[in-house]
Amino acid sequence: MWKAFKLMKEGGQKSSNVLKKWLRSSRFWLLITPFLLFLLLDVAIPFKVSPRYSTLIAASDGTILHAFLNDDDKWRLYTELEEITPVLRQTILQKEDRYFYYHPGFNPVALGRAFLKNTATGRRSSGASTITMQVVRLLEPRQRTYLSKTIELFRAVQLELHYSKDEILQLYLNLIPYGGNIEGMKSASLLYFGKLPQLLSLAEITTLTIIPNRPSSLRLGQKNAFIVQERNKWLRRFEKAALFDKQVIDDAINEPLTAYRREAPKLAPHLAFRLKKEHKNTPIIRTTILPTRQALVEQMTQNYVNRLQSMDIHNAAVIVVNNETMRVEAYVGSADFNNPYDGGQVDGIRAVRSPGSTLKPLLYAIAFDKGMITPKSAINDVPTNFGGFEPENFDRRFNGKVTIEFALANSLNIPAVKVLKELTPSVLIGYLKKADFQTVKKQSKDLGLSMILGGCGVTLEELTRLFTSFANEGKIHGLNYSTDAKKSKGEVLVSPESAYLINGILTQITRPDLPNNFDNTYHLPRIAWKTGTSYGKKDAWSIGYNRRYTVGVWVGNFSGVGVPELNGANIATPLLFDVFNAIDYNSPTGWFKPTTDITRRKVCAESGDLPAEFCTHQVLDYAIMGISPTRKCQHSKWVLTDKNAEISYCTQCLPDSGYVRKLYPNMAPELIAYNELNHIPFQRIPPHNPKCTRVFEVGAPVITSPNDGSEYFLENQELQLACQASNDVREVYWYINDKLIQKANPQAALFVKPPVGKVKISCSDDKGRNVDVFIKVLSR
Ligand SMILES: [Zn+2]
Ligand SMILES: [Zn+2]
Repeated sequence: MWKAFKLMKEGGQKSSNVLKKWLRSSRFWLLITPFLLFLLLDVAIPFKVSPRYSTLIAASDGTILHAFLNDDDKWRLYTELEEITPVLRQTILQKEDRYFYYHPGFNPVALGRAFLKNTATGRRSSGASTITMQVVRLLEPRQRTYLSKTIELFRAVQLELHYSKDEILQLYLNLIPYGGNIEGMKSASLLYFGKLPQLLSLAEITTLTIIPNRPSSLRLGQKNAFIVQERNKWLRRFEKAALFDKQVIDDAINEPLTAYRREAPKLAPHLAFRLKKEHKNTPIIRTTILPTRQALVEQMTQNYVNRLQSMDIHNAAVIVVNNETMRVEAYVGSADFNNPYDGGQVDGIRAVRSPGSTLKPLLYAIAFDKGMITPKSAINDVPTNFGGFEPENFDRRFNGKVTIEFALANSLNIPAVKVLKELTPSVLIGYLKKADFQTVKKQSKDLGLSMILGGCGVTLEELTRLFTSFANEGKIHGLNYSTDAKKSKGEVLVSPESAYLINGILTQITRPDLPNNFDNTYHLPRIAWKTGTSYGKKDAWSIGYNRRYTVGVWVGNFSGVGVPELNGANIATPLLFDVFNAIDYNSPTGWFKPTTDITRRKVCAESGDLPAEFCTHQVLDYAIMGISPTRKCQHSKWVLTDKNAEISYCTQCLPDSGYVRKLYPNMAPELIAYNELNHIPFQRIPPHNPKCTRVFEVGAPVITSPNDGSEYFLENQELQLACQASNDVREVYWYINDKLIQKANPQAALFVKPPVGKVKISCSDDKGRNVDVFIKVLSR
């Protein structure tokens, strides 16, 4: 053991002696010095290789949607390694640098030969240039002197040290000049042949390999005949070198040259500009856009808007999303990007606009999930004052009692505001935040009930994404613009059951937001859709979906000018239908199926609630198990009257002479007022026994004017007093500051001149139920 250690030590000493000897030898230093010097210089003056490339926007199939000049106004498109085909590689190496894969950046044999030739003739030629050295010159152009030649040699070796052969060849192909501002094989391929380098024929490749040496005398598109001669010379040389079969060469020689200078592709300009900005210094941005679909939808949008010009409607935007992948397949930001008069460069998909009624489906979906309503729940579409906010319907008419599904399909405003009031705007805002509505996030503190009628800011992108959640069982996912991105896991926005109910309601075609003149000649796609029109008729929306696609359409003017004819049904929906028929005509994918927690149940047709004994008219409704309301219907109530139904009684004033039990409609005061006003007959409850002394507590009148807590400037005008009262009320009594002013019919509107200052206004009905409001009257 000890011996072995000693031996090892001696051996170590022996080898260190050899090393010392070596270090002292001049031969060693002769060899190592240039190497060390090179490493030192490599660190001291590193070679920065960062050519500025053009930005290229690729479609989902790899074709080019859009190409941009680089920062130096050059077309220098980035060729990827896999785009260099074997034929291209063989051709270029055969012509430029046959020993490329074997030399260290320079070719010593060729260099020596050139040196001898130059000293003999006194001229300088660059015949000995390798591809590596050409790359050096393209990256750092220099005067042709012996000094620069030396620097180039150094640079070439540097390049070889830091990059693979393939990467150097790639750099070469990306930088070779083609005359004018066109650089690189890919730019030339695209701008002269209209295709990607992989698709070039041998004849085309050969053409492109001979241009860079003489870009001005071999101008493509101008000197094609001459170029063909030169091309064929090289093809014959390739034949001699047995690079390709004779037949292949002959075919290439016979191929006509059709090259001409083309325009760079300019599809999907809005998306292209957007992604270029979002992905700085990325030479190739791969999008999810389907090029043929994009071209089609762009054309349809432009043609459609051309037909609207006479109405003074100048723009539209369309986005097509695949619900299964969440990929955006078409993105049309405006009718014509190149129209500066109508703001063609504005991206209508990201412009913040008023949503009109398009948020209503989300509102009802939330209300279904909160157990507030079902599709057949009744709601009163009657004039209502929400603390000073008195919405009207789009057609300025009211419908009385309607179902929720009718209210949504017909986009009624009062029911939506009522549901939002019960839900509260902050809950809806919470959902919109979850769905990433950026402007709503910023506005959230200032938003009120009017937001459901369009009183907030949204983009077409946000709205369309929201609607994909109805097609995706209530889950909201991010939109994908990049082929690298996978469909996100998604977040539950509403339940699958609620989404199913919304899908059903938005599919009904018996609705007024079908376009006018919509007849059988027009093919109606099977889709669910919702329209919207903003206040002032500035924006027309129509967002539709089936299982496969969601399409968002906006039509309007970027200038914000409103147009009387502009509305979602007539102006935006036809384009939505056109797009759907073009992309998914006769969709093979079936319709949405009910989920497990959806049940069907019989409800009272009058109220949508579970039938009571008196509910004879029953209909089928959907319900969400364990969620939907289980209220018993109260659409009628039993009233005790005399035999002739002239007087009604309560349990305290029942006469000894006898009474009968009769069913009467149990109507909300607002509906009674509405029916009265519109002369709609209804069965009245007879007036209450005048001899009754009981004080009733519930069912007091509701003062609809003036508004409680409001301030009123009254100069010569009078103040309107109005109320709504229960079915059995015949008379109400109005008081100002506890002084009786007038006895009146509950439906009558009175006009009074209240005193200045704080004023108490009271209304009592004939059963002694009273309500007070307080206002402040101001006068100048
Ligand atoms: Zn009922
Ligand atoms: Zn009574």
